[in-house]
Amino acid sequence: MEIVLATKNKKKVEEIKRITGGTGIKILTMDDFPGCPEAEEDGDTFEENAVKKAVAVAKYTGKTALADDSGLAVDALGGEPGTRSARYSGEGADDERNIGKLLYEMRAFHEGERGGCFVCCIALASPDGEIRTFFGYAEGAIGNAPKGSCGFGYDPVFYPRGFLRTFAEMSNEEKDALSHRGKALKELKKHLKSIC
Ligand code: IMP
Repeated sequence: MEIVLATKNKKKVEEIKRITGGTGIKILTMDDFPGCPEAEEDGDTFEENAVKKAVAVAKYTGKTALADDSGLAVDALGGEPGTRSARYSGEGADDERNIGKLLYEMRAFHEGERGGCFVCCIALASPDGEIRTFFGYAEGAIGNAPKGSCGFGYDPVFYPRGFLRTFAEMSNEEKDALSHRGKALKELKKHLKSIC
């Protein structure tokens, strides 16, 4: 079975390939389909965005497509940055600026008030219109300063519950076992094994 990943994020492609390894599924990327459209992430929920992206790529390629939408929901900020995680700091947003904004917004909150949760929704869309979704969550807390150099996004300021190290201070394997995407992919893997 072949699945096209509906993302241009190279780190995500790496993570998804690593986690789906051993299932016998051939992973293709959008680079294999020049001109493949990338749907806009303008939905109100992670699920809406993931489904929209997967459906667009399945329609264009005629193959089963997998998309994820993920982000960080911070309790003290009413769930922000949420579905806006990638572009939290506005025009020209990048990981460093997003982290800078997050730490600024969190400046008045002390230990015990800095809880947050990474959320991931994975959507699998077949060209004939069938859609399945899989969810994963990683609960934890937002640190006061970036630590570590692995991973991407908000990893340097996210302490998964029960750990004194951020995601960015963990090996890929450690993060995969705890992460929202790792957990959602585990559910997906179970499903793929049952249909392959
Ligand atoms: P999207 O799923 O491509 O919309 O990206 C969501 C954004 O959420 C990313 O650009 C990151 O800022 C953040 N994010 C999602 N997953 C992770 C993760 O595993 N670690 C750190 N940040 C993440």
